[in-house]
Amino acid sequence: MIQVTLVGHEFQYEIEHLLRAFFPQARFNFSTVTSADQDMQVISMWKDDRFYAKVEVEDQTYVKEHKEHITITKEMDRRKIAKRLLKKVLYEALVAYTKKPLPWGILTGIRPTKIVQEALEEGRSEKDITKELLETFHIQQDKIDLMLAVAKAEKQILDKNKVGEISIYIGIPFCPTRCVYCSFTSYPILQWKDQVDKYIDALIKEIKAFHDFYEQTPIRSVYIGGGTPTSLDETQLQRLLDAVNMYIPMESVEEWTIEAGRPDTITLEKLQMMKEAGVGRISINPQTMQNKTLEVIGRQHTVDDIIQAFYMAKEVGFHCINMDLIVGLPGENIDDVKETWNQLSLLKPDNITIHTMAIKRASYLHRNQEKYHMMDTNEVEEILAFIEEQAKFMGLEPYYLYRQKNMVGNFENVGYALLGKECIYNVEIMEEKQTILAFGAGAATKIVDLSTNAIQRIENVKDVQHYIERTEEMIQRKNSVKNRIFQVNRKN
Ligand code: SF4
Repeated sequence: MIQVTLVGHEFQYEIEHLLRAFFPQARFNFSTVTSADQDMQVISMWKDDRFYAKVEVEDQTYVKEHKEHITITKEMDRRKIAKRLLKKVLYEALVAYTKKPLPWGILTGIRPTKIVQEALEEGRSEKDITKELLETFHIQQDKIDLMLAVAKAEKQILDKNKVGEISIYIGIPFCPTRCVYCSFTSYPILQWKDQVDKYIDALIKEIKAFHDFYEQTPIRSVYIGGGTPTSLDETQLQRLLDAVNMYIPMESVEEWTIEAGRPDTITLEKLQMMKEAGVGRISINPQTMQNKTLEVIGRQHTVDDIIQAFYMAKEVGFHCINMDLIVGLPGENIDDVKETWNQLSLLKPDNITIHTMAIKRASYLHRNQEKYHMMDTNEVEEILAFIEEQAKFMGLEPYYLYRQKNMVGNFENVGYALLGKECIYNVEIMEEKQTILAFGAGAATKIVDLSTNAIQRIENVKDVQHYIERTEEMIQRKNSVKNRIFQVNRKN
């Protein structure tokens, strides 16, 4: 147990996440008074211009301090700077104790490139940004290089956002089986087969309800994700595709993606339907090209099925195919991932998205961790560096970057793409520069006000049954903010 005492501030969330990056398995006891009977003591203090951290373990003490007078009077900005400085001194004390700097330093948020985007918008130079990321955030140089490369690639996409433009997300929360690491809203489709038609009815009703709205609001991208949208059978999928084409003015949409996801749900007929409907970009996500791992993670398909689905999609005429990989899957070692990469490089997908394994609380994997052998931090670091180098060799550049909580080794997820094949929606959702209107169970609409950087979330219920029963309420929730979207878009 680690005893954490906060003095002069209440930033428990930020302090806990930084501590978790160093000690993922530890338990914490937060209080405002110190107690001597714990294995480790941490004090984080903000008093006037003084930012202080102390780490005490057995008879060793590590103290770091920073003095800075925050001149900004706006309370929100003052707190932001104070949080950053409290994390900085605590990080320095923890590194003094553990002797293990973290690749992302004090950065615990999921959108690392936002800091760079904001700094670039303020007109700051790359040299100046790099200095701050190194000295205040303690981020490693290779990660800073990645942040800058991604921020520049994203800028190319974001600069093309037109005034008032939005994107649309449609969620299908069904999959053939549940993967051991899954923490998403995902229902096994066979067990829910009696509800799927009702779900599609509800979804179409929700999409249709905003028919007039689309006519007044340009739409840049449409993304159908999940779950696994291709878990729907041919008739259900066709109904959804027809509804999208009927109610959304797709002829002016720049990008339409469907996450086909699991190869065992992909058929020639579904691919042909999607192509004919106008879908331009799909994902076929192997996660690994090792049969033994596919079985361990709960997939009911083989590596051959992945290869077959990929070539079938090519033959049908898809010219933008993404493939997702996960580094650090249960039971895998460096050689397994290298071999997976070699197989993928033969297929030459247009995008490859690399995820680092995240052990989420809601997953089977989290509840059964002792059953699995997982890669350690050094192995993950080595294989990520190998992939970065190999991606370049294939002409794939990083364009999209995010982090998750509880990632093995506290690393990152990176989307690589051939030039011009980047996923617009991924960048929009990550950088939050455009309003996203979202439909389906668990979908979250985000209204982005660029003039204040404020984001308003309107969430649909997660439970499929509740979504079906309360579709009208989900429509009303969004209807009530339609004017707000117009207002914000005019300002944007
Ligand atoms: S395919 Fe994705 S959404 Fe479906 S169970 Fe696996 S991780 Fe969850």
